[in-house]
Amino acid sequence: MLRNIGLVWLRDDFRLKKNLALIEATKNHQQVVVFFLYKKKKFENQEAQNWWVRRSLEEFKKKLIYFNINLEIIKTETYKSFFDHLFLKKNFSIYWNRVYEPDYIKFDQYLSKNLREKKIKFNIFKGNILNEYHEVKKNDGSPFKVFTPYWRNAEKFYSEKIPKKDKNIKKLKTKISFFKNSINESELALKNNWSNKFKEIWFPSEERALIELKKFLKARISNYSESRNFPYTLGTSKLSPFIKHGQIHVETIWEECIKLKNAGVGKFLAEIGWREFNHSLINHFSYMLKGNYSKKFDNFPWEKNSKFFKAWKQGLTGYPIVDAGMRELYSTGWMHNRVRMIVGSFLVKHLLINWKEGEKYFKNSLLDYNEANNVSGWQWVAGCGADAAPYFRIFNPILQGEKFDKDGEYVKKWVPELKKVPKKFIHKPWELKDVNILKLGFDYPLPIVNHEQARSKALSAFKKI
Ligand SMILES: Cc1cc2nc3c(=O)[nH]c(=O)nc-3n(C[C@H](O)[C@H](O)[C@H](O)COP(=O)(O)OP(=O)(O)OC[C@H]3O[C@@H](n4cnc5c(N)ncnc54)[C@H](O)[C@@H]3O)c2cc1C
Repeated sequence: MLRNIGLVWLRDDFRLKKNLALIEATKNHQQVVVFFLYKKKKFENQEAQNWWVRRSLEEFKKKLIYFNINLEIIKTETYKSFFDHLFLKKNFSIYWNRVYEPDYIKFDQYLSKNLREKKIKFNIFKGNILNEYHEVKKNDGSPFKVFTPYWRNAEKFYSEKIPKKDKNIKKLKTKISFFKNSINESELALKNNWSNKFKEIWFPSEERALIELKKFLKARISNYSESRNFPYTLGTSKLSPFIKHGQIHVETIWEECIKLKNAGVGKFLAEIGWREFNHSLINHFSYMLKGNYSKKFDNFPWEKNSKFFKAWKQGLTGYPIVDAGMRELYSTGWMHNRVRMIVGSFLVKHLLINWKEGEKYFKNSLLDYNEANNVSGWQWVAGCGADAAPYFRIFNPILQGEKFDKDGEYVKKWVPELKKVPKKFIHKPWELKDVNILKLGFDYPLPIVNHEQARSKALSAFKKI
């Protein structure tokens, strides 16, 4: 047992189970303080996440009190300035779990070097991932660029080294405060209160994540491979914001899944696999966070069109499935994966707007935003990513709607002005000539671009590169 204080830097780990940094700190110290660093600037461009983090801090703080551990929130401009100040104290050891984003990994190196020089004890643990990104490589030592062989190897690698039994957090005898400048989570509210409505829909906590997982495994996983494509059906787990903020560890998901002998398990774990693959990609090819993975897209003739971009964001493009998706995102902070692909494709191919604009908008609006999945998801859609959908395969928003929202239920839920439109026209309301049902251009916009024309324009733009 060490005599000094154990500090735990909380990042994306709002859980007790499999929180290795926290478990180790309570094993080694009689007094532990968990701290969260809040950079206001970062959250100004991640408003949805600001809401989730604020609620998570509130929940987690209550949970930690039982263990006699304080959770302290400190506002800082940069992580470096906070730690430079902290280095002046010496009466602590420090623990944290890895976040698999290149900036965090780089900062871990800076921090480790300084802590070592100052002879302050520290320990870094595996974060919310199955395999460390450098563990899964091709035989020649290079990183995988294609998903299928990556996942075949990653799955095998992980199942052969599944960790031993979980350790638990120890309840401590005394609770202490460490940072004089800590603040209350209520001070983290942003000026824009658009995200306040999420409180009716989402309940960010570790307990809730486990409940959602169990409900999904009991009722939905057997049909997952099929139903995951239909946005009106609750076919997926909706665990993504919980995974992003670490309310559930992907190892827990894996463990619960492999207990089942069920057809959907393989497909579901493969989606967790895509998340692993994306984390591997951004760490091995970190330049893709700033630009195209495939360099030939650097010359792509993107267009700037603020009118189109605004219509896309507001769900007013005149293409019902696109508008429904964008409105689902605005209203709930989440969008179904099939629809993310459709709206993404529409932005980059029909409107020829750079995927980075869409990426930025999603970053601000998604509760599950994470750098790896968002950047890779957008580059997959745009055709410039690793193992991406080819650019020339252009989603037809009418056919996509007719295939995955056959009865138009999803569209009618999010675009209520189309409620009375008959099924036959729900994905192409411009063909409906009955103005008593819908006055196009008045009740609902005319399509901002013509599908066929936009398609050929996109293909000729692609030919230029
Ligand atoms: C343009 C675009 C942007 C995206 N941005 C994000 C993002 O910022 N954050 C994010 O978590 N996902 C992102 N995705 C991936 C995917 O849409 C979401 O993970 C999924 O919709 C979350 O819903 P769910 O939890 O019900 O998924 P489920 O189908 O239940 O899958 C379980 C988990 O597997 C992972 N997963 C599922 N699908 C994918 C996928 N295609 N790629 C990577 N991981 C996946 C997620 O962690 C998910 O929670 C993006 C996809 C696209 C096309």
